[in-house]
Formats: sequence, structure tokens, C-alpha cells
Amino acid sequence: MSQRIKIKAILASTPTDTRVTVKGWVRTFRNNQFIALNDGSTNQNLQVVVDFENTDPELLKRITTGAAISATGMLIASLGKGQSVEVKATEIEVLGDSDPEKYPLQPKKHSLEFLREIAHLRFRTQTFGAIFRVRNSLAFAVHQFFQERGFVYLHTPVITASDAEGAGEAFKVTNFDLANPPKTETGEIDYKQDFFGKATNLTVSGQLEGELGAMALSDIYTFGPTFRAENSNTTRHLAEFWMIEPEMAFYDLDDNMDLAEALLKYTINYALEKNADDLAFLSQRLQEEEKSKPQQERSDMSLLDKLQFCLSNDFERLTYTQAIDILKDSTPNKKKKFQYPIEGWGADLQSEHERYLVEKHFKKPVILTDYPKQIKAFYMRQNELDAQGHETVRAMDILFPGIGEIVGGSQREERLDKLEQRMDEMGIPKEDLWWYLDTRRFGACPHAGFGLGFERLVLFVTGMGNIRDVIPFPRFPKNAEF
Ligand code: ATP
Ligand code: MN
Repeated sequence: MSQRIKIKAILASTPTDTRVTVKGWVRTFRNNQFIALNDGSTNQNLQVVVDFENTDPELLKRITTGAAISATGMLIASLGKGQSVEVKATEIEVLGDSDPEKYPLQPKKHSLEFLREIAHLRFRTQTFGAIFRVRNSLAFAVHQFFQERGFVYLHTPVITASDAEGAGEAFKVTNFDLANPPKTETGEIDYKQDFFGKATNLTVSGQLEGELGAMALSDIYTFGPTFRAENSNTTRHLAEFWMIEPEMAFYDLDDNMDLAEALLKYTINYALEKNADDLAFLSQRLQEEEKSKPQQERSDMSLLDKLQFCLSNDFERLTYTQAIDILKDSTPNKKKKFQYPIEGWGADLQSEHERYLVEKHFKKPVILTDYPKQIKAFYMRQNELDAQGHETVRAMDILFPGIGEIVGGSQREERLDKLEQRMDEMGIPKEDLWWYLDTRRFGACPHAGFGLGFERLVLFVTGMGNIRDVIPFPRFPKNAEF
């Protein structure tokens, strides 16, 4: 038998009347004659034509939606619409039967909610095939971007004893018998007797460890799973997500923003080049979906236009203070349309505010800088008091249309006295982070970094509406199936 060829390669070839073998899963089988075959290498199906008069009727019956088959035959020019080649099969073997009565994926449109319940099979749909090929390209592009720039891919620990934000939304890791954990004399759980000899959790961020690497390797990035036990049932939060966290020695906030903007544009452009078919399909899908929405909720740009627009425009950069002024005077604020009205300086921005700035006011990606010190993490570099006497830090958040925050970062506080003072104010125990503080004791230097939520990037590029649809097996409150 000739060697199996992937469908993507076949569709890109010109018919040469050669014998080929293809393997894949049957999408549909029409008139006992036309198999639409897909092997996941591309969104397109290959038409395999069966010579039904010379094929065992028992075999024909086993060619059903979902079955895995191998087909061998001549590759010829196709007369059918929408395809240049097809395979005229002379041999067909059913490798794995699929009972059409029981197969959950029927050749019709299923809701995304239903497909989430059968996430083990949803890869076989056009939509999810496209999403996960795009996700793959974006991940590869992230590595290529950093590798081209001499960054070192650093693996930071998944189990840690530090909670980077002190936010207390970490998943605990313990080996104790939960019904009967050892106690101290005062009746508290005695973590000294636990596996690691201290209380541990799954990482919420690799940043602190990443900074340690940057203080010797100059430029590093992490790209790994991150865990948050926040009970937020939103379309933008997962309990397990992948984060990209670069840390760069000798970078200030402007360098940091330039890098983040370049990374986003590079990865989006890469997907546009590598996944043109998939993105055209997803763009079309979104347009179909929007038809069922009221006119004012439809977007004026298609997905492909939106991605192109993002590449060809500079992100708008402004300070938090400037953003508050815009929001205070905005129509929705005056008409009390915001769920959280903007009363003045110091408020944390909610997703509704971020989206107003991006989608209504500037109509493009926005980078906000210099947030109030009170609402940001201890490690962000403190600014001099501004003209109005506000205390701010050298933070930056990148806000994207339809997504809100996609990147959060800052220039880091490299001055030991300032850092210790801020930790004291916030009640963060310095002895636990002695190793972090050591980088400020020995050869400290200005440095900066950020965190990009990978699924939020995939969400933006695929135009999907729910983050649970852009990771193969989503983890969220009350769900850890598969
Ligand atoms: P948000 O306010 O949207 O919850 P955050 O301020 O908690 O975000 P950071 O702690 O700055 O986010 O994390 C860095 C990036 O990680 C965010 O910009 C976002 O892209 C992503 N991210 C944060 N939390 C989640 C989550 N639960 N699920 C998926 N991505 C997330
Ligand atoms: Mn959060």
C-alpha cells in the first residue's frame, strides 16, 4: 500500500494521476458514493469517491459519520464544486466503526454549550478543529518571537510556597489526610509535617521566580500553566490557564510596552499567515452568529478585519488618570449606565470600563499606565507623587476589544528600601521572600515584565465568545471533566 498522505498536502497538490492512501474520519457519506473525509490537518475535507457498484454492501454500511477509514485510490481532478482534487477509491478499509445511532456528533449544527459537554469529541467539528490549530500556531509563534530575540525559556515551578500577589486565590497542595491532618499544640494544621514541610499551593504566576532568572540571563520568558481558585464564572476566567511571562533586565516601562505590543502583533500576524483557512472559516462563523443579534450589538468589522486593524494601528497609550477623566465624563457614566459608576480617582477599573475605553472611545487596543498604588501589587515600581499628589506605580495593562485586560505588567521596584516598605504596608512577610529580596541586595537593576493570558489571546484571534471554548479541556468552578 502507498504511504498515507495528510489531506492538507493532497489538497495543495495538483492531480498527477498517482495512487494515494488517505486516512481520517468520515464527516458525511452521501448517495453511497461521496465521502467527506477529514484528518485534522486542515479545515477542508477531501472528497473520496466510492465505486459503490463494485463495493461490498456490508462495507458501504460501515462508512458512517465518525468512522475512521483508510482509502487508497487515484488522485484525480475533481469536477465537484469547491475542490480541485478528489480520490477515486479502489480500496477502502474501515479502521474503526462508529454507530450512527449512538455517535453524539451529527452532521448538523450543535450548540457550543452542548459541544463543551462532549469536549472529548468536539475536536472533530470544523469550529474546534480550526480553534485548536490556531491555538497551536499562536503557541509556536510565542516561542519563535522570544527565541528570535535571544530570550531564555525558563521553567518556573508549578508547586510553590509563595503566592505572588498575596491574593489568596491559590489552590492548596497537601499530602495530608484531609479528615485528620496533624495539628500543632495550639490546634492549627501543622504544615511542618506535610510533604514539603510548609504550606504549598499551585502557582498563580511565575513572575517572582522569573525575575530571579532575568537578574542573570537578562531576558527570560515563561510559558506554562497557571492556577487560580477565584470563583469567577465569567467568559474570560479559567481556574487553569496558560500564561506567558517575560522578564527583562534593564527594561523600563516604555520598553516593556513596546515588547508586549510587538509580541501581540507578531503572534496575530503569524496566525493570519499560517491559518488563513481556519481564520476565514471562523470569521464566517462569527458573521453567521451575529446575524441573530440585534443590529446595535453586531460589530462593524469582521474577524479578519479586526485582526488586520490590530496589526496596522499603534495601541493607544494613556495614563490611568487620563482614563478616569474620560470615563467620568462619558455618556454611560453620566446616564448611570455603568454597574460600577466612576466617582473619582482611585477606583479599580471594571471590565465594563475597560471595554468602554477600547470599544467605544478609542476603538482600538489601549495601554493604560501608572495605576494607583493602592490597587496594584507590592512589586510594582513606585512613581514620584504626581501633580495632584496621587501615589501611582509604573504599571501597565493592555486592553483589547471584546476581551478587556489581555496583558498586565509593570516596571519592577528595584530599590530595596521602597520594596520593603511596601511589603510592610501590605503585610507581606519579608522572611518568606528572602530570596526575592536578595536580587535587590546584590546587583539590583531596573527591570520590567508582564503576563499575557494565552487563552485571552486565542479568544481574540479566533473571535470566540467564551474562554472555555479555546482550551481543550477547561477547568472552572464545578467542572474538571475529562
Ligand atoms: P482580571 O482582572 O481579568 O481577572 P488579573 O488582573 O487578575 O486579570 P493578572 O494577575 O495581571 O490578571 O494576570 C495576567 C494576565 O493573565 C491577565 O492580563 C489575563 O490575560 C490573564 N488571566 C488572569 N486571570 C485569568 C484567568 N482566571 N483565566 C484566564 N486568564 C487569566
Ligand atoms: Mn483576576
